[in-house]
Amino acid sequence: MKVLVLNCGSSSIKYQFIDTASQIALAKGMVERIGMSSAVLTHQPHDKDKIKIVGEILDHTIAIEYVIAVLLSPNHGVIKDKKEIDAVGHRVVHGGETFSGSVLITSEVMKALKDNIELAPLHNPPNIKGIQAAKNHLPNTPQVGVFDTSFHSKMPAQAYLYGIPYELYKKYKIRRYGFHGTSHRYVSERAAKMLNKPIGELKIITAHLGNGCSMAAVDGGKSVDTTMGFTPLEGLIMGTRSGDMDPSVILYIMAKEGLSLSEANTLLNKHSGLIGISGESSDMREIEEAVADGNKKAKYAFDVFVYRIKKYVGAFTAAMGGLDALVFTGGIGENSTLVRRQVCDEMKFLGIGIDDTLNTNAKGEMDISTADSKVRVLRIPTNEELVIALDTEEIVNQQLELQKR
Ligand code: ADP
Repeated sequence: MKVLVLNCGSSSIKYQFIDTASQIALAKGMVERIGMSSAVLTHQPHDKDKIKIVGEILDHTIAIEYVIAVLLSPNHGVIKDKKEIDAVGHRVVHGGETFSGSVLITSEVMKALKDNIELAPLHNPPNIKGIQAAKNHLPNTPQVGVFDTSFHSKMPAQAYLYGIPYELYKKYKIRRYGFHGTSHRYVSERAAKMLNKPIGELKIITAHLGNGCSMAAVDGGKSVDTTMGFTPLEGLIMGTRSGDMDPSVILYIMAKEGLSLSEANTLLNKHSGLIGISGESSDMREIEEAVADGNKKAKYAFDVFVYRIKKYVGAFTAAMGGLDALVFTGGIGENSTLVRRQVCDEMKFLGIGIDDTLNTNAKGEMDISTADSKVRVLRIPTNEELVIALDTEEIVNQQLELQKR
């Protein structure tokens, strides 16, 4: 099956056109600066040169029209007819308590997605716009929603309830949801394959470290706890997000600095984390360079980032009562030798030993632990788009089966 995978943000759309049989992305690309006269579409067919188109793209409907047009283009395209797009798979950030798995998008599902907007006011509206735009251009093509939250939806109450009045959970659905679920699910499944053991028998900690960062405790293939919470702000230090802190800190800052709710929200989401502490950059490569140049604040940022991950390795090992594998993924997890080394440093007491040479030369899917390490330390590149494409195929096939009956 050939699936168009769409990840729609407020001003950008990332896409991949995936052949599920070969698991190859026949083309991938991105539309950026949607809403502006200088929007950019970058398109990379898997066996041809990358192209870049600059022009006015005022909304998601036009952006998706361009994406379909470039897939069909005689010079840069990979299909000859729109009908070759068998299905569309959408990344949807927040499924709330409604969606515990991927779903075929129907009018009832659209309504439920709209009902969840309050939980993800920044992310769900562009996801919904993307679905509507894709429906306009491909009215007869099945569309599937794959949620960032659903892998975590079976967490026990002890992990998802906050220490606030229970009525507030019931009234406003304030609880831990967790995000990056597609990535945590993918890398934990790959880890089980690499270790050649049934996932049901494994206790795995997955660390997805990108611009946004989160960890999950995956016990027997189920996420039993995760660092992100009601929103993606909780947990680890991220590029621009604060992660965990005493909630009264924000009340204090708001009072002292006279910040409005929206200013406080921006401070925590956009000006905190690595950029906040270092004052230099939200990008780990630049932080590492600044540390090497002797920049003190960059060093604080790096150390706080690593220490928080280490703390959660301990916490999640305790939560699961053991640990078989620690997986690093995401831009930082896959590429930063230094972060991996420092997280695993002096963790022998937990049975974690990282091999310096393997860690330095890590590529692709790789076991980078020492031979005597009880816990396997793994580098696994994530592939959320592939999970979305495979889930989409499965849901569409189930639907076809139902129609046959
Ligand atoms: P997103 O969460 O937006 O998908 P990525 O997963 O691509 O982002 O991760 C981006 C992060 O990965 C940035 O902080 C970047 O600096 C970091 N990164 C990428 N390559 C390296 C590297 N070689 N060393 C350290 N950090 C890296």
